Amino acid sequence: MKTNYHAHTHRCNHAETGERRYIEAALKEGFKIFGFADHVPQPYTDFRSGMRMQPEETADYVNTLCALKEEYRGEIDVHIGFEAEYFPALFDDLLRLLEPYPYEYLMLGQHFLDHERGGTYVAVPCAEEAGLAHYVDQCAEALNTGAFSCFVHPDIFRFTGEEAVYRAQMRRLCREAKGCGVPLEYNLLGLGTHRHYPNPIFWEEAAAVGNKVILGWDAHAPSWLEQPQLEASAVSFLDSLGLRRIETLTLVRPRAKA
Ligand SMILES: [Zn+2]
Ligand SMILES: [Zn+2]
Repeated sequence: MKTNYHAHTHRCNHAETGERRYIEAALKEGFKIFGFADHVPQPYTDFRSGMRMQPEETADYVNTLCALKEEYRGEIDVHIGFEAEYFPALFDDLLRLLEPYPYEYLMLGQHFLDHERGGTYVAVPCAEEAGLAHYVDQCAEALNTGAFSCFVHPDIFRFTGEEAVYRAQMRRLCREAKGCGVPLEYNLLGLGTHRHYPNPIFWEEAAAVGNKVILGWDAHAPSWLEQPQLEASAVSFLDSLGLRRIETLTLVRPRAKA
């Protein structure tokens, strides 16, 4: 079954507009499940991010998707989620910000460590084991909250140091995800645009640990879905490693602490 839980909208300022266009494209391509996971509105009080919706845009995002979910019921299952970083100091506030809305899931996408402003952007080359270990520690803490239904592009950290160090840290990360029952996403945006991820070495470690893996289109435009060859090459790579592919996620709706 063809599914996707990872698509963005114009609200993050770097994706195309038109939720309906994404759904129509997904229908045309034979998807049975299509989830949106735009960049979550982080509850910053001291900073305005340019790569995510603002808190005041959350209602429009969720309401738009709720209406489409009803309209397309029976044709395709539309789901409402967010791609979220885990910033320990802000996480309770984030869950409280989202609590009033009928969203269905969060996916962990740790683009920054500690904080977006002044924090480390994880796609910048880093040769220090301490930096990579920090990424693993923060993601492990996130996974252990039980708030995340999937871990997207887990291999986004761009480590340029020794391969043995990378393998050991990624094995630790994969074990944490497996222990928490959180599937890993094999990111088709990175694959199709030749980014530093997906990293084949990471996926060898995931195969050794025995993680569950789901394909994620990370669509920033409806036309991105019109690439059956991209999916085919991802599937053949994952199958060649003997990875356990899944097609659906168990969606976990986190709850804010009272
Ligand atoms: Zn991402
Ligand atoms: Zn994304």
